[in-house]
Amino acid sequence: MLTGKVALVTGAGRGIGSAVARMLAKNGATVIVNYNGSRESAEAVVAGIERDGGSAEAMQCNVSDFASSETFVKAVLEKYKKVDILVNNAGITRDNLIMRMSEEDYDAVLDTNLKGAFNMIRHLSRSMVRQRSGKIINISSVSGILGNAGQSNYSASKAGLIGLTRSVARELAGRGINVNAVAPGFIDTDMTRNMTEEAKKALNGMIPMGKMGSAEDIADLVLFLAGEHSDYITGQVICVDGGMAM
Ligand code: NAP
Repeated sequence: MLTGKVALVTGAGRGIGSAVARMLAKNGATVIVNYNGSRESAEAVVAGIERDGGSAEAMQCNVSDFASSETFVKAVLEKYKKVDILVNNAGITRDNLIMRMSEEDYDAVLDTNLKGAFNMIRHLSRSMVRQRSGKIINISSVSGILGNAGQSNYSASKAGLIGLTRSVARELAGRGINVNAVAPGFIDTDMTRNMTEEAKKALNGMIPMGKMGSAEDIADLVLFLAGEHSDYITGQVICVDGGMAM
């Protein structure tokens, strides 16, 4: 159980982040439901958690912005005094073939997916070091391991997250802080919902289990990595992908 723990989940107004927020709250954590643009759905996530007897608050922050992330983390620490669990989940795609990819689309994806995680870890790690405990979980992707045609920006950001995870894990291992990455495969959320049936069929063909995963499949692993049963695990990248990247 995570009773007494404070968790901050970025991009938790919808998709995988919202499932993670609900899962951590269900297991006793007080959850900061961060959102960027989706205020209404973040508030609906909070309302659902409270209806189930949990505790949560929706807070806006664009995690790709260094200064805004600092202000956000300061506000969280002022109110809640600590953060025990940080889940860097916020992420976007701007797919295109390399020959057509704009500088803006490259930068936007790197700024959100990779720099966003850096910003949050940078601003929160000092407080975790002081309390000599913490769990940092970065949501990477099998695209960061396998690569994916049409996603060079996204794959680079997700591979970068793996490097960030391992380096920070080494820096903070002696301070009682675990840093791990989860690499989801093909998960049913807004991010994948707009794909053509043909593209979905082709992707399913690459998955040994032959089907997409759910946001809850990811939340189950995040719960394990956020709790005490994973205390001797750090610097790892764990795929939740139906066998896709084995
Ligand atoms: P999604 O449904 O599109 O949700 C993306 C989330 O990221 C939203 O909550 C969004 O918040 C948030 N976000 C985007 N930019 C942000 C910013 N600058 N600051 C704060 N939050 C921001 O996607 P998802 O499928 O749940 O993806 C969640 C994570 O899992 C991402 O990192 C994604 O790369 C990763 N992943 C997904 C899959 C998949 O198949 N779905 C596979 C591998 C990895 P707002 O709506 O408030 O802007």
